[in-house]
Amino acid sequence: MKVFKVFNKYFPTKQDVEGPEKIMAISSPTVVKHDVHVILNKNTGSLEGIPEAWKKYIENTIGKDEMQENPEAALSAVMFWNRSMLNQKGEVGYMPTTPPVQEVSEGDKLGTNSCDELEDGDQMKIHKEKLDTSASSTQEPQIACSLQAQGLVEHQAERPELGGSISPVQVRKKVSGKLTDEEVMAEFQRICSPSNPETIYERDMELGAGASGTVFAAREKSTGKRVAVKDMDLSKQPKKELILTEINVMKELQHENLVNFLDVFLLNNHLWVVMELLDGGPLTDIVTETVMKEPQIAAVCNHTLGGIQYLHENGVIHRDIKSDNVLLGKDGSIKLTDFGFCANISGDEKRQTMVGTPYWMAPEIVNRKHYGKKVDIWSLGIMAIEMIEGEPPYLKETPLRALYLIASNGKPDIPSWQKLSPEFQDFLSRCLEVDMEKRASAEELLSHPFLSKAVSTTTLKPHIEAAQKLLDKRISSEM
Ligand code: ATP
Ligand code: MG
Repeated sequence: MKVFKVFNKYFPTKQDVEGPEKIMAISSPTVVKHDVHVILNKNTGSLEGIPEAWKKYIENTIGKDEMQENPEAALSAVMFWNRSMLNQKGEVGYMPTTPPVQEVSEGDKLGTNSCDELEDGDQMKIHKEKLDTSASSTQEPQIACSLQAQGLVEHQAERPELGGSISPVQVRKKVSGKLTDEEVMAEFQRICSPSNPETIYERDMELGAGASGTVFAAREKSTGKRVAVKDMDLSKQPKKELILTEINVMKELQHENLVNFLDVFLLNNHLWVVMELLDGGPLTDIVTETVMKEPQIAAVCNHTLGGIQYLHENGVIHRDIKSDNVLLGKDGSIKLTDFGFCANISGDEKRQTMVGTPYWMAPEIVNRKHYGKKVDIWSLGIMAIEMIEGEPPYLKETPLRALYLIASNGKPDIPSWQKLSPEFQDFLSRCLEVDMEKRASAEELLSHPFLSKAVSTTTLKPHIEAAQKLLDKRISSEM
């Protein structure tokens, strides 16, 4: 679940990444300003207005020559980086010393921030006030979808104003789409099953911890069925509304290639989200520890695409497709997880919100263009590269340089390209097409000849076992 994705989460922990260390080595800013004015000087091809504290870092990571060579890509990367550094109060943080806002709307409220406008030499100004507005507007479209379904938005709009008998001043209730903490808690009470989950489930080993809580395995006492439970301490969640959205999205979407939601409980201010248990762990473990064959890669792509297509036909973009978010079962099941990051869209509507994990990010997101469902297809292509090479392109680069390389290179080089079958090469080219209009849809890819090479996913069982042994993280089958 990616509801509160902190920037650290951009750096996969399961793989050997040099980037974070480099970044963490940079000290915190001593002078924090709230305005950043970045201009692309067309004559010199250089970026101006970058704070000194950044300049050195950017020159070291992107490189002076490359900045000259492709200043637009550098600008995109720097802008993206800058937006990722915004902390939750909407201030501009120069380096990732505090968790930034994980998704920043590129809406009109931010003014002159499109690449084209900047090319024309306009100044981009990021003001604290504007950022505050944008940060809240970011979350509203997603929340509104599920809250409208629950009648919550209307509910708030219809709240009676405070009457004259209490105060001579009438207080106007603002319709902002935001809920008070009390309203959010009331909504949690409403959607949660009333029982005490500890009477229903027996808690077992911890499977891992994410930004918003801990996941543990459990057994349903009455049936013996094994499940996964995400335990979130609500008192530690600054944005409970997003968790509501996530649960509502999960509740509505049920598919064989999605980690399905089973139930939700509230216990001592902790939320227990019960879901299917995938005892094979994340695909990341398989790709980093073992070598997959093409027919196995085709099988994983096939199942993942099944989940993606289902999401897309339900108007949902996942926006964080990567091997960490594909979970495997020893029975051969392959399921997508982490819907907190997803966005509700309708038809071919495009969004302009920047989310995801840099290395898997489609160029149109880095270039701050409107984007749509096809971002998931790009990320699937990157995930296929993980299955070939063991890691996504540019993983050894810092996130900022990776952003620059995505914006400037388009389709990444694949070292093993020559060893791939023509069908696989074509599949990858269809996923990693920079022009999103030309990029294949999930539906088109599902009938791609590469997928007819797929073998049964049960052939992955030895890979799962080998990876779990190497990583010493077996999920016990006995409880
Ligand atoms: P984030 O908070 O950004 O989502 P994350 O994915 O690492 O990060 P969680 O979603 O909380 O964090 O998951 C924690 C761990 O539990 C991960 O290693 C994940 O693979 C594992 N996990 C999550 N859901 C399940 C599940 N249904 N079955 C088995 N393991 C799971
Ligand atoms: Mg997760």
